[in-house]
Amino acid sequence: MKFIGPHVSAAGGVENAPVAAHTLKATAFALFTKNQRQWNAPPLSKTNIELFRQRCLEYGYAPEQILPHDSYLINLGHPEQAGLEKSRAAFLDEMKRCEQLGLCLLNFHPGSSLKQISDEECLSRIAESINRVLAETAGVCAVIENTAGQGSNLGYSFEQLANIIDQVTDKSRVGICLDTCHAFTAGYDLSSEAGFSETFEHFEQVVGFRYLKGMHLNDSKKGLGEHVDRHESIGLGTLGKEPFQRIMRDSRFDGIPLILETPDETRWAGEIELLKQWQ
Ligand SMILES: [Zn+2]
Ligand SMILES: [Zn+2]
Repeated sequence: MKFIGPHVSAAGGVENAPVAAHTLKATAFALFTKNQRQWNAPPLSKTNIELFRQRCLEYGYAPEQILPHDSYLINLGHPEQAGLEKSRAAFLDEMKRCEQLGLCLLNFHPGSSLKQISDEECLSRIAESINRVLAETAGVCAVIENTAGQGSNLGYSFEQLANIIDQVTDKSRVGICLDTCHAFTAGYDLSSEAGFSETFEHFEQVVGFRYLKGMHLNDSKKGLGEHVDRHESIGLGTLGKEPFQRIMRDSRFDGIPLILETPDETRWAGEIELLKQWQ
């Protein structure tokens, strides 16, 4: 069973997200549980929480079909103590929001060295951040997203993702979200059949599919190995439609949220329908 849907807006309250997803006939969705461009947000109200839970139940969205995403400001591998502490506090707040909403996953970008510390040190800081936050929460899995490797962003290689997981104490609450656009521009050639097979065999060897908790299905505006993160609508970019057809026919991607972060919202309903047909 494939769960497919976009990153929908939670404007006006998180309880609006399941409605938006249902309208698009989505079987999964992603959302921000607070404004992703601000550090502080008012806590979720009792009404927010109750309506969100009620509507998810009503429209058939189980926690495994929902992949919340954290704020873009958070850097769990921050080279400076003040920045690191601020990020850890904000991430803890995001995890607690997920707990309140009855969700079981939280997707985040691992972090950036800002070229002030070594990659190794930055990866260790990220793992330590995860350990601290997991110790203070329950039931929510920290889902690390692979990146395009733009600037000093880490987590662009499977080895780096595995390095973080290795240093996380509670392996039952850490996972990976693979973004197809990020993987491709990081140098993993998902566009050819051979490249697709090799990439996921390599993923199985280095990380392991048991850690795969979600996917971001995005085509790319940029080429293989360009290390630039620019999403494109499915089939219209440098990846083309074939990698997405392969994913839809591949049982290794069953039972996890497959999220569209494609730029043209008017195409989402069509993209969902197309992906469903490719199963
Ligand atoms: Zn993504
Ligand atoms: Zn991206």
